[in-house]
Amino acid sequence: MSKWVYMFKEGNADMREILGGKGANLAEMTNLGMPIPQGFTISTEACTDYYDQGEKISQEIQDQIFEALAKVEEINGKKFGDTEDPLLVSVRSGARASMPGMMDTILNLGLNDVAVEGFAKKTDNPRFAYDSYRRFIQMFSDVVMGIEKSFFEKIIDEVKAAKGVKFDLDLTADDMKELIARFKQIYKENKGEEFPQDPKVQLIEAVKAVFRSWNNPRAIVYRRMNDIPGSWGTAVNVQSMVFGNMGLTSGTGVAFTRNPSTGEKGIYGEYLINAQGEDVVAGIRTPQPITQLEKDLPECYAQFMELAMNLENHYKDMQDMEFTIQEGKLYFLQTRNGKRTAQAAVKIACDLVDEGKITPQEAVLRIEPKSLDQLLHPMFDAAALKAGEVIGKALPASPGAAAGAVYFSSEDAKAAGARGERVILVRLETSPEDIEGMHAAEGILTVRGGMTSHAAVVARGMGTCCVSGCGDIVIDEEAKVFSLGGHTYHEGDFISLDGSTGNIYDGDIATVPAGESGDFKRIMDWADEFRALDVRTNADTPADTINAINLGAQGIGLCRTEHMFFNEDRIPKIRKMILSETVEAREAALAELLPFQKADFKAMYKALDGKPMVVRYLDPPLHEFVPTDPEDIKALADEMGLTVERVKATCDALHEFNPMMGHRGCRLAVSYPEIAKMQTRAVLEAAIETSEEIGKAIRPEIMIPLTGDKKELKFVKDIVIETAEQVKAEKNSDIEYSIGTMIEIPRAAILADQIAEEAEFFSFGTNDLTQMTFGFSRDDAGKFLDDYYKNRIYEFDPFAKLDQDGVGFLVERAVKLGHKTRPDIHCGVCGETGGDPSSVEFYHKAGLDYVSCSPFRVPIARLAAAHANIKFPRK
Ligand code: PEP
Ligand code: MG
Repeated sequence: MSKWVYMFKEGNADMREILGGKGANLAEMTNLGMPIPQGFTISTEACTDYYDQGEKISQEIQDQIFEALAKVEEINGKKFGDTEDPLLVSVRSGARASMPGMMDTILNLGLNDVAVEGFAKKTDNPRFAYDSYRRFIQMFSDVVMGIEKSFFEKIIDEVKAAKGVKFDLDLTADDMKELIARFKQIYKENKGEEFPQDPKVQLIEAVKAVFRSWNNPRAIVYRRMNDIPGSWGTAVNVQSMVFGNMGLTSGTGVAFTRNPSTGEKGIYGEYLINAQGEDVVAGIRTPQPITQLEKDLPECYAQFMELAMNLENHYKDMQDMEFTIQEGKLYFLQTRNGKRTAQAAVKIACDLVDEGKITPQEAVLRIEPKSLDQLLHPMFDAAALKAGEVIGKALPASPGAAAGAVYFSSEDAKAAGARGERVILVRLETSPEDIEGMHAAEGILTVRGGMTSHAAVVARGMGTCCVSGCGDIVIDEEAKVFSLGGHTYHEGDFISLDGSTGNIYDGDIATVPAGESGDFKRIMDWADEFRALDVRTNADTPADTINAINLGAQGIGLCRTEHMFFNEDRIPKIRKMILSETVEAREAALAELLPFQKADFKAMYKALDGKPMVVRYLDPPLHEFVPTDPEDIKALADEMGLTVERVKATCDALHEFNPMMGHRGCRLAVSYPEIAKMQTRAVLEAAIETSEEIGKAIRPEIMIPLTGDKKELKFVKDIVIETAEQVKAEKNSDIEYSIGTMIEIPRAAILADQIAEEAEFFSFGTNDLTQMTFGFSRDDAGKFLDDYYKNRIYEFDPFAKLDQDGVGFLVERAVKLGHKTRPDIHCGVCGETGGDPSSVEFYHKAGLDYVSCSPFRVPIARLAAAHANIKFPRK
């Protein structure tokens, strides 16, 4: 018989995989002797089994759940469904990785028409008891049975209106009874059966609902954004209820042992007297700072502080805790390593090293590579900020500078983001449904909610600037308008947010790029010390090169030479070359391109100051370069001395049905060797001249794209060598150079041992390699991949994160075969995946020499490479 259910006292912190994060920590805290309402955890394996059985909980698992429940009854001295003093429980999800607000929770489970009477008598508080029951019916109906919340909210509003009261708190016990009757009626109308009275049925249905919520759309999106595999499943925690809403000696709150926004030492939290936990997290009431607890209930505060510090020392990390005080008695409901901004993360990690609690390796591992994005985000330009008009101030919930156009719904924000607009999402409060809009936004502004509201927690996790709880705002979300500080803003109007001060500004305030300094630099210096992979950058301009070097790039892994002709005054020149009808015409066009190309290479070599650069020869997918605009065609015809009709006819003749698999890459040089000749001349002349000018050796690395066969590579290589030797002779130079290829066609990966006979280095172009391995067009996959995520066929975009099983297999094979032929073959990757942390780990393990990525991802790749080598050291 397998074990599916664990009492809290049977687990520990190392059992996250089975118990989920919450379950493992509840177990650990129980073992530490902390005041934890007791309960049990249904394992993540039970969740997997539930899906394997076609969404059913097996009898064996149900039996184990009820055995565990009997033990909880014993511990509490209360019975489930008891008419005198019923045991009530909460049912909460808890995955291996924390996914705040993504899955479902049910509170007050165990109440029914009879138990509520017992509960009312026992607590001597009928209003509280009936309120708990109506909350339970509402939550159960919504979460378990999928009956819309709005049905219930409408009834509450009707009852309040009939009684002439404004707040829920003004409703009496009898009003609650009325709500209960009407809620049950709604349930019956929707489900065609009575609200379940048997607490055991309630419990099993609730557990199923939590399992199901693992695959709700927002959880799927969250997993994709955070690299969490769908196969993990969630555990379910069933815990005895404690009540923070039993009067003025009760309360509930959340607290961090250090500031999650800045990393400053010291307890940081919020609480609400006489409230249930959901009221704080959902941002329904704006809570008090935790210091208020010291005034309200000093003994509880002292005990809380002591236990919170014990927890931090025990876990050696900043803790995020939920607690409830029931009639003067303190309980911890959960603890976890707190989510924090990148700024806070680096400060906390460095402070913990200085406090002697963790090693530099551990500190490096504590920083999520992707989170560095936040530290690299621009800051406000100081002068522009000073000149800006502050229209309001609220809580600095997540730092950063954001300026953009305001949008009032997640859908609108998402659509505007997709159009390339900078977006500020303005909401009364956010909920998990808003996740995609929040993701698309530069900044988030909410009217309600504290530092631990949904908006604040999620924004910090995403590294998005957030200012929350701005009660001065008057908003009408439907009409898409808000006013603040004497201004009125409609959809599309600009505001700016400073997530570090909480200031809200009128208009679009200018920003400046961020740099590496202080604690951030300490972490990155350690990371560089610990990593084995080199990190290069993909850059095509001197400005990008300088930027990337400042961000720690050790050279250029991919200079896409066709990108050097993207700007307006140059694109006609490359078009002329592409549309040339004779060799002579093409050579003339190339002769015009040569000086530009050479000057660019010289500027790049200067910026590199001796660092290496891989120059990738022209690879222009024709559909990106052949003109379509009639004005462009006319200008080109004039320039080439041809008729418009003639140029149009050439464009038509060049039309390809599958341009991504068309006449591009080395195929162009096979048809038109003069292109490779011109580029070789440009590279060699630039390198020889710059080397003399800067007094440093330069060894050009020439890369032939889209190779599929050894003979094809040799054909182009021979042209390169011939021209290179010619230039060397002309310049009387003995410069060394190497010639390699991209591995981006599956055939090249499969036959890499043959390719390596000609190639001195490989660079994996995972953009094309993925395109051709999956048969997904790079340009079109976005249109259908969403359906694959929704249907859980694929969990992530294989163009962004390496498909380790398929494309990764080809990479590993090619690295092995390449080394077999040429033991010192130099291998790197330059596709998009080169900057993705989990892919970087794979490349480290596969034995690559370097990864290359866009400039802003260089620090992320450096840190990811350090993680990989700390976790899987190279011998
Ligand atoms: C690739 O295919 O991965 C690559 C880097 O080349 P490009 O994106 O220019 O096709
Ligand atoms: Mg490519």
